[in-house]
Amino acid sequence: MTWIAGARLADPALRKGALRIDGGRIAAQAAEPPRGAKAIDASGLILVPAFIDAHVHLAVAGEPALVSREQIQSGVAAVLDLGAPERLLPLDHPPLRIRFSGPLLTAPGGYPTRSWGRNGEGLELATADQARAAVQRLARAGARFVKLAFDPRFPLLPPEVARAAADEAHRLGLRVAAHALEESSVRQALDAGADVLAHTPRDPLPADLLERMKGKWVISTLHAFGVAPERLRALRDAGARVAYGTDLGNENTAPGIDARELALLEAAGMDPLVAATSEAAALLLLPDLGSLAPGASASLLAVRSLSPADLVRPAWVMIDGTLLRPAAA
Ligand SMILES: [Zn+2]
Repeated sequence: MTWIAGARLADPALRKGALRIDGGRIAAQAAEPPRGAKAIDASGLILVPAFIDAHVHLAVAGEPALVSREQIQSGVAAVLDLGAPERLLPLDHPPLRIRFSGPLLTAPGGYPTRSWGRNGEGLELATADQARAAVQRLARAGARFVKLAFDPRFPLLPPEVARAAADEAHRLGLRVAAHALEESSVRQALDAGADVLAHTPRDPLPADLLERMKGKWVISTLHAFGVAPERLRALRDAGARVAYGTDLGNENTAPGIDARELALLEAAGMDPLVAATSEAAALLLLPDLGSLAPGASASLLAVRSLSPADLVRPAWVMIDGTLLRPAAA
C-alpha cells in the first residue's frame, strides 16, 4: 500500500488530492495522506487516468507483444483492435487490456482483402448464413466487437448479409463497428445496424444521417485520415459520443499517445482527455479504467500539464499499481 501525494487530480476538474494505491487499485482519495504514510511525491504534477486507444491494429503496427509493451510504457492501458486476422485471436498481451473485433467482415473482393488486408485482416462473406457463423466463431474467440467494412471502391456486402452479421452480433452481446468514410457508406452501416463508426467520416453528413447518430459512437482517427475536425464536431453536436482512437498501424501513426490526435479533438471542441479516458472506457466496456475514483484500476499518468504535448510525455506511468520507469524525454 502506498499513497501518491502532492499532485492535482484531473477527474475531470482539477483539484488537489492524494490517492491511496492498494492491490493494483485506487483504494481511496483524500486531501492528503495520513501523517507518516509511505507516499510517492508527485508535487507539481497532475494525475490523469491512463489512456485508452479505441482504434488500433496491433499486428499491422509490428509484433503485437512488442507493440503492446510500447503502449503500456507510454501510458496506454487499453486498446480496441479493429482488424486482426482470426488466426491471431484471442489477442492477449497483459498488462495491456485488449478488446478486439477480429477481421473486417466484407464482401468477396471487398475492402480490405484486395489491399492491406490480404493476410486475413479481412474476412469475405457471401451469404447471411456465413455471416452468422463467422460472428459466432469470433465471439467464441473472445471478440466483444465485430467490424463491418463499407468502401465503395470495392464490392459491398449485400444489405441482408451485413444485417445478418450485425443482428447475430447484437444477439451475442457484441457491439457493431463499421468502417464507413463516405456518406453512402455511413448510410449502409446504419441500415445494417452499426453502433460505432470506426472513423470520423470524411464526407459531411446530411441531417437525416446526423440524426441517426444520436447516442451512437464515433472513434476519432482524425490525424491518420486527415479528416477535418468540423466533421467530428457535427457528429458530437448531433448527439454522438466520441472516443479517441489513432488507427495505430496506419500511415502517420506510432505506438503511444498521439499528440496530434489530441490537438485535433480539441480543435473539434472536445476535451481530448475525456475522449481518451472515461468515454473510451465506456465504449470498450471497461468500467474500472478511465477514472481516478476509488475502486478504479491504479492505471494513471503523472503529467506536467494537460496540453497535448505534455500528455504524451508523462513524468511517470503507473499501470495496475506498478510504477513504470519514466518514459524517455
Ligand atoms: Zn483501422
